[in-house]
Amino acid sequence: MSDSKTLFEKIISREVPADIVYEDDEIISFRDINPQAPFHILVCPKEPITMLSKSSPKLHHKVLGNLLIKSAEIAAKEGYKDKFRIVINNGAEAGQSVFHLHIHVIAGRRLDWPPG
Ligand code: 5GP
Repeated sequence: MSDSKTLFEKIISREVPADIVYEDDEIISFRDINPQAPFHILVCPKEPITMLSKSSPKLHHKVLGNLLIKSAEIAAKEGYKDKFRIVINNGAEAGQSVFHLHIHVIAGRRLDWPPG
């Protein structure tokens, strides 16, 4: 039987467990299973938008704003106000491996620029 759900849809529906740090009607946030820093969460829309470049201004401007604002709020709540990095990998060539839009929020170590 084919299963077209992405991993993050299965986290949203609780078919796959995750350490959820925030949830509302529109978005969910959980800790990355392979953290790249002491603090590393993913913030996703519940609606399965595959990637940022597939989003539409008309349909998605509200949820995209919510994702950014909530990312900053969660980072602040966890003690990283004004000292976190946000990353969106858009497409396989840019490092995206799960095709359900998500923001990486990373903090808690020195973050060089440009990234490696
Ligand atoms: P991407 O490479 O698509 O930008 O990011 C996908 C992220 O999902 C990676 O950082 C990876 O560690 C994380 N990830 C993969 N599988 C799981 C999982 O089962 N649970 C959680 N919480 N994160 C996962």
